[in-house]
Amino acid sequence: MAGCEAALQLACRGFEIDLYEMRKGTGKTQAHKTGDLAELVCSNSFKGTQLASAHGLLKNELKMLGSFLLQAAEKARVPAGESLSVDRALFSKEVERLITESKKITLHPKECTELATQAPTLVAAGPLCSEALAAQIKELTGGEFLRFFDAIAPVIDSDSIDYSQAFAMNRREKGETADFINCPLDKETYLEFVKRLQEADSVEEKPFEKKELFEGCLPIEEMARRGTDTLRFGPMRPVGLGKHYAIIQLRAENAQKTLYNMVGFQTRLKWNTQKEIFRLVPALKNAEFARLGSMHRNTFIKSPKLLDNSLKLATPHSPLPTPHSLLPTPLYFAGQITGAEGYTEAIATGWYAAWNMANSLQNKAFEPLPHGTCIRALIEAITSPKEDFQPMNFNFGLLPRPENLRKSEKKLFLIEQSQKNLIIFI
Ligand SMILES: Cc1cc2nc3c(=O)[nH]c(=O)nc-3n(C[C@H](O)[C@H](O)[C@H](O)COP(=O)(O)OP(=O)(O)OC[C@H]3O[C@@H](n4cnc5c(N)ncnc54)[C@H](O)[C@@H]3O)c2cc1C
Repeated sequence: MAGCEAALQLACRGFEIDLYEMRKGTGKTQAHKTGDLAELVCSNSFKGTQLASAHGLLKNELKMLGSFLLQAAEKARVPAGESLSVDRALFSKEVERLITESKKITLHPKECTELATQAPTLVAAGPLCSEALAAQIKELTGGEFLRFFDAIAPVIDSDSIDYSQAFAMNRREKGETADFINCPLDKETYLEFVKRLQEADSVEEKPFEKKELFEGCLPIEEMARRGTDTLRFGPMRPVGLGKHYAIIQLRAENAQKTLYNMVGFQTRLKWNTQKEIFRLVPALKNAEFARLGSMHRNTFIKSPKLLDNSLKLATPHSPLPTPHSLLPTPLYFAGQITGAEGYTEAIATGWYAAWNMANSLQNKAFEPLPHGTCIRALIEAITSPKEDFQPMNFNFGLLPRPENLRKSEKKLFLIEQSQKNLIIFI
């Protein structure tokens, strides 16, 4: 997905591209079923089209910036209300037509097992990057900078938290400034909460995930099944937070504190079940989830440590163990391997990395996209310093917004900010 968008963008800026797609040779991965380019591995939807939805606004930017894959999706569109859903075979066919008709792109139907040193390179090998390439990226970036598994806790829009049922405080600290928002549960609510978790349905793991699932950390439903009090002595322990039966802690996801993460709440519960159960917590009864919890096989690099805000490998926060002479220069990353999760996000980062790569190869100075645009916010979310980095999809909580507006006014503000600032930029 990201690789095709990037190749087309670079080609239309005059560069010759060697594009490698291993499925053209082998046909499949653990999730892909065909050898088609830009195969949609699961849902056939690129999500909403309305400007008032996060993915609609992101798509609008991609349209303004001339995304090829978005045009292909429009051509392959099937009726699905307000979402952009496609006939997946037609979509791949249209992408393949654009790639093969481009005189600048040579499609190599084989696995890239080694990155050529000194050749400008863009890696968009996705969540199921081949073993050989993953091993090389791991070596180039230092072992700890590549991960094969994510364990994501739900993320909540700060405006939807009921602060009258919560309090700000760090564990065992009294001070005025607190990093955590604490959501208490009384005994009755806690017991109901745990019972619902014990009985809840989880998403089934794929065969290739079986041995990896519990390596990172336990999902909360599994903890609940180990005993009624397990959570109360684990992520819901009230110790150092006053006299409460149990507590869920929320930690800010971003500097603006528009998003909060449920600390230690990685889960494989089905999405609707997560919403129902978490809304039993008094402070979260109206919670809006910017993203829900998940745990699955996923290859991604620690972008905050490795990439600069042009998506170029630049190790802004720590030196690389590998001598730079062994690295392709410049080396860009795009798509899910950067931690930007979702089809539209893959297209957006593909567009963005290619645009920066083209500018850099033409010796143009780096120019960030304007403040308030969805793509810039997404890039900041994956490249800003963060301790426990996990993949993120685009949502409104990532966009800068004034605090004093009402909810309905905020959306209008965000739409206007994105459109106005991007028009000026273009
Ligand atoms: C099981 C599963 C289900 C998902 N469901 C959804 C969903 O419903 N909606 C959604 O928005 N997102 C979903 N995602 C996330 C989705 O993968 C990404 O959003 C998107 O496809 C990522 O785009 P990408 O370009 O980064 O990777 P991909 O689209 O996967 O493209 C990477 C390509 O690189 C190729 N490749 C890998 N290694 C090599 C190599 N060494 N040499 C040559 N080629 C190589 C692969 O064959 C693949 O075609 C799902 C992911 C998985 C794993």
